[in-house]
Amino acid sequence: MFFLFGLTSRERMLFARNATCHFCGQYVPQRVLQRRTKLTVFFIPLVTLNRKRLMVCSNCGATSKISAGQQRAMAG
Ligand SMILES: [Zn+2]
Repeated sequence: MFFLFGLTSRERMLFARNATCHFCGQYVPQRVLQRRTKLTVFFIPLVTLNRKRLMVCSNCGATSKISAGQQRAMAG
């Protein structure tokens, strides 16, 4: 038997919110993204291996990982 395994990651933007960037210190929109890494078999995504929330600064482009709690606090 032959299986073709691979990994694919997709990003989805959840929302953007003004916040102070930890890197550049500017109060600018921060985009909150969700990145999912999936295991693919014959290019069909089957299992989600990893789910990360990322915050991307619109000023300096710095990306930082945030927790679910931080995401809720920002969304609220
Ligand atoms: Zn920044």
